[in-house]
Amino acid sequence: MVLKAPSFLADAMLGSVARKLRIFGFDTLYIAHAHDDEILKTGIEQGRVILTADKELFKRVVKAGARGVLVSGSGELEDLVHILSKNGISSVDLDGIGSRCSICNGLLEEKRPDQVKNGVPRKVAELHREFYQCTTCHKVYWEGGHLTRIKALVRSVDTMLGRAVAT
Ligand SMILES: [Zn+2]
Repeated sequence: MVLKAPSFLADAMLGSVARKLRIFGFDTLYIAHAHDDEILKTGIEQGRVILTADKELFKRVVKAGARGVLVSGSGELEDLVHILSKNGISSVDLDGIGSRCSICNGLLEEKRPDQVKNGVPRKVAELHREFYQCTTCHKVYWEGGHLTRIKALVRSVDTMLGRAVAT
């Protein structure tokens, strides 16, 4: 049986964590300007795990019987590991990467170089073979330095998750 991956709702302070969760492939809504009431309501209505560094908001999440994780903000890596382990995720891999747009949470579609050549610098189109485009905001992604850093982050998170489960 495959457990359905959790979906998340990140509050205004957690934009960077939200982008990383999207890159990992998790459906993550990020609300930059919203009242706590709205965050709570949206989280419950859409069945999302509410992520916040605000203790008062977290208390309200618990009180309302909604799912949530209080994030310490001590560091991005620690926060990601904390969020995932709290949701029963004991490992992450590279399969989910490249499935979601880090900017808008839209789904990505694989594209041929000639399909994206108007949206990227010519050099990029010449040097790369694999492209992905967001079906919502149309941003184009390609293999490169950015992805190498992301892969390193995934490995770090995976290693730390393994340790979190073992202890
Ligand atoms: Zn997008």
